[in-house]
Parts: sequence; C-alpha cells; structure tokens
Amino acid sequence: MALNLLHSNDRAGKYPSSWYAATADALPEFAPLSGQARADVVVVGAGYTGLSAALHLAEAGMDVALIEAQRVGFGASGRNGGQLGSGQRMEQTGLEKLVGTQDAAKLWDMAEEAKTLVKSLIAKHQIDCYLAPGVAHACFTAKEAAHEHAYADHLADRYGYDQIQKLDTAQMHALCPSPAYKGGTLDMGAAHLHPLRYALGLARAAKAAGVRIYERSEVTGIDDGPRATVHTKGGQIRADHVILACNGYLGGLNGKVASRVMPINNFIAATKPLGDDAARVLTQDVAVADTKFVVNYFRLSHDRRLLFGGGESYGFRFPSDIAALVRKPMVEIFPHLRDVQIDYAWGGTLAITIRRMPYLVRLAPNILSASGYSGHGVGTATHAGALMAQAVRGQADGFDTMARVPATPFPGGPALRTPLLVLAMTWYALRDRLGV
Ligand SMILES: Cc1cc2nc3c(=O)[nH]c(=O)nc-3n(C[C@H](O)[C@H](O)[C@H](O)COP(=O)(O)OP(=O)(O)OC[C@H]3O[C@@H](n4cnc5c(N)ncnc54)[C@H](O)[C@@H]3O)c2cc1C
Repeated sequence: MALNLLHSNDRAGKYPSSWYAATADALPEFAPLSGQARADVVVVGAGYTGLSAALHLAEAGMDVALIEAQRVGFGASGRNGGQLGSGQRMEQTGLEKLVGTQDAAKLWDMAEEAKTLVKSLIAKHQIDCYLAPGVAHACFTAKEAAHEHAYADHLADRYGYDQIQKLDTAQMHALCPSPAYKGGTLDMGAAHLHPLRYALGLARAAKAAGVRIYERSEVTGIDDGPRATVHTKGGQIRADHVILACNGYLGGLNGKVASRVMPINNFIAATKPLGDDAARVLTQDVAVADTKFVVNYFRLSHDRRLLFGGGESYGFRFPSDIAALVRKPMVEIFPHLRDVQIDYAWGGTLAITIRRMPYLVRLAPNILSASGYSGHGVGTATHAGALMAQAVRGQADGFDTMARVPATPFPGGPALRTPLLVLAMTWYALRDRLGV
C-alpha cells in the first residue's frame, strides 16, 4: 500500500515551523465538510494546483468546493524555494526529442504562460509576496557552464527568449561570491517569491470569487459516475466534475496517478538575519539553483536571511535534525557560514515523475488530475490548475497537450518504487560527490 505523507511528518492541521509560516498571516480556519453537500466541481487539495483551478472555475461562474485535508497551502506550495523558473522542468532540447518540435514549442509557450499567469494573479489580486525578478543557474565546472550558455543560445534562436545573461566565473562570483561556482546564467524573466504568502493570497481570491473552502477534511474516496461522490470522514459531496490536486500527498487515493508520480522530501533552512554579511552570499536580490543532481537552491529573504535548500534524505520520514542536514551542503557552497545560527529548518514533500514532466490525466470523463511537477511547480502547478479549469469548461486543448507527454509508471508500482528511488538517488548523489 502506498504510504501517505499527509500524516507522516507534520502535526495535523498545522503549518510547519518554517520561516514562511512565521512571516505570513494565516487565514481564519475554514470549517470541515460535514453532512451532504453538492457542487458543480469539487477540487481536492488546496495548493497552487487546486487553488488556481478553483479560482478560475469560480471566476467563470461555477459553484466550486475546495476540500483540503490540512490547511490551505499546507503542502509543498507553502514550503518551497519560491523560484518561478522558466520553461518546463525538462530542457527544451530533451522535449524536442521526446514529443517533437511542434509540441515542444507549445510546451515552451505554455511554460511562458505559466510565469505570466503567476505574475498577473499576484498583480490582479494584490498578493503581497515579495515577487522579484531573477534566477541564476550556477555551475561547478567550465563544461557545465558551456552547456548552460549553449542552452541559452538555443532558447534565443529557437524560441526568441532573450532574458538570459551568460556569466563567466568572475561575473558569477560578482553576483554570488561562493568559491564553488565557475560561471552560469542569470535569467531575468524568471522570478522568486514568498510561497506561502502567494498560496494564501490565491485562497483569499478564491474565497472572494465564491469558492467554498473546507479545511481539515481529508478525502478518503471518490465514486465516479456522471455525478461523482467525494467522501470525507465527516461528509459527502456530489459533483459533476472532480479535480485531483494532491501532488506528493496523494497517498493511495488514486492508483494510476500513484504509480507514475512519486513523493520525495526536500529541506530548507533559514539562517539568522545576516545584515551586511548577506553580500558574501548574494549581491543582488535574485535566487540561485545549481547543477548538482541533489540541487542546492538559495536566495536572501527580505530580512536578509539566507534561505538555503538542499540535502539528501531518502526515507519518507523527515530526519530528526533537518538543520544539520541542510547545513552540510550550505557549508560546501559558503564555507564562511560553518557556524552560522540557523533559526528555522523544515521539510516538505514534492512529487516527481520519471521524465520530470508533470502528469496531467483524465481519470474518468469528469475526473481530472495534475501533479508531478518535479520541483518546478510554482508556475506549472498554477498553470495546470488553470488548464484543468478550462478543460472542465470544455476547452481542453492546453490540458491535452500536457496530457500527451508520455508518462511511464515507476517500475514496481507504488509498493516498490521507494526502495528503487533510494537506490537511484543514492547513485546520483554519489555521482554528485565524485563529480562524474
Ligand atoms: C522544499 C521544497 C522546495 C521546492 N522548491 C521549489 C521551487 O523553488 N520552485 C518550484 O517551482 N517548485 C518548487 N517546489 C515544488 C512546488 O512546491 C510544487 O510543485 C507545488 O507546490 C505543487 O503544488 P500542488 O498544489 O500540486 O501540491 P501541494 O502544494 O503539495 O498541495 C497538495 C495539497 O493536497 C492536499 N491533499 C492531499 N491529499 C488530500 C486528500 N486526500 N484530501 C484532501 N486534501 C488532500 C494536501 O494537504 C496539500 O495541501 C518545491 C517543493 C518543496 C517541497
């Protein structure tokens, strides 16, 4: 049976003790679903996917119920690195081979739409989430930097994308004075933000648009049919359409999705405010992701802390000392922070697919699901929610383009995939360490 991360690592109905939760105003709790109810559409899961789907459907005049097992933004959407990256998670060169140049071009356009959608939702709903432009890709070797530069040329030549600056070692060092990096790129079309504030802002907008939000209401089963019935412990709700937006916290709610979308934990630490020393980490207000397979990603918070994500851990349970886990890669990049005080450290669960492309699927004529953004969901999850809202309303072109991307099940299905992942990730982590 698939493990359910909804209950593995957190206190029921509580946000984790993250720097994000400490710097966001939670909404007053929404009451759980109780008794019998009815809606045009039931959306399960209130992260970016579900919030965006619900908001777009309600704005189109539909009666929407959004059902969340814990709190709005409890999942990855309230805990992530906040990077709004360009493109899909898989590079365009790979996509061109996988789905052909025509669909690859559509997928690029959709990823650009995703960034624009996030920025426009923040502007339209006046979401105060410290949105700022700029994501750098930092490389450990000249060979990796040459690859990044060639990829920037490819995006410019084939897709007309001209927002990426190429950085040599000195330029990268001027931006990020770590001894570890040997050049890279800076993408000023990408951006970063406070993820929980963004999720809560979407929830406020959804509520204002008429979405009925139920918290602490775990969905335990869905009966399909022309009128689907969604069950929670406390109630039942009948709907013409159901949208599954559970991502890494899906557990065994749907076997088809569970066999293709694997949960995986990732960790972030927030140091004490660094004051003037912050310039020894970054000299501009941009985010950074590097080329390690177990990726390091970081940026400064608005109160000048280093928010650093990284670290290896391959069980379903979070390690007991997350700060120590994250400190290790942090010190590899910034040796001068060896003894810095860490004020917050937390984990979250994301979901990956074999090809690192989201898995959008029509599970029944009136049941849609989107998940598996593979660490690239700030934009693509928000966008997938909008695509599902369009599909419910009969415009499925965008949804179908995403759903055409081949999605291979993990070998062994939900029961076996964890040991296999551990094996695979250990191998890649070893490669990282050996630099091969
Ligand atoms: C530590 C970390 C760092 C990351 N960094 C980045 C980054 O910098 N940039 C980026 O683009 N992406 C990043 N990601 C990934 C990104 O956060 C996700 O792709 C995105 O938030 C997915 O949104 P979602 O709405 O699909 O899932 P989630 O936000 O996880 O929401 C799913 C929701 O469904 C609810 N749910 C699950 N099962 C049920 C049920 N049975 N009944 C009711 N509700 C249920 C859960 O409680 C949860 O609230 C990161 C993720 C993590 C964990």
